[in-house]
Amino acid sequence: TTTVGFAASAVTERSFIMVKPDGVHRGLVGDIIKRFEQRGYKLVGCKVLVPSRELAAKHYAEHDGKPFFPKLVDFLTSGAVVALVFEGKDVVKTGRTMIGATNPLASPPGTIRADYGIDVGRNIIHGSDSVDSAMREIALWFRADELANYTPVATAWIYE
Ligand code: UDP
Repeated sequence: TTTVGFAASAVTERSFIMVKPDGVHRGLVGDIIKRFEQRGYKLVGCKVLVPSRELAAKHYAEHDGKPFFPKLVDFLTSGAVVALVFEGKDVVKTGRTMIGATNPLASPPGTIRADYGIDVGRNIIHGSDSVDSAMREIALWFRADELANYTPVATAWIYE
């Protein structure tokens, strides 16, 4: 028999994923986590909270001043969200592919937004759009001690 190894350095990228209030109200949290888990991504952070206006505005700071910004902050603070951090190879870009386009109606079938949503202001889920955004967003939503360090036993069966 041979020992199966993996390149640990290849799997440390992290993305900030958030089920928005519409996804929580609609009971989609489990389905969304399941998609990332099944793909092989490792859950390292998870919490449910009703965000403050300050947190929501900081999260979407790049959109401050745009016409949809006030409604976006109202929406995000209107209920509970589930803040998640997933880790794995290329998780930021692959996470965005799994999530789909900003407008669910323009999103390909099989993506989360297409499978669960219709309107752009009710698009279920957020995912970081770059590794730099991911680092900023993870630091905004989580303390360092809220992120778990562990190696899933399946790691060597997901990465060659
Ligand atoms: N949004 C909206 N109306 C718009 C554009 C965006 O309500 O015309 C909301 C939508 O929920 C989107 C979020 O603002 O997910 C952030 O927009 P962004 O362009 O960053 O899209 P994303 O990265 O979420 O696909």
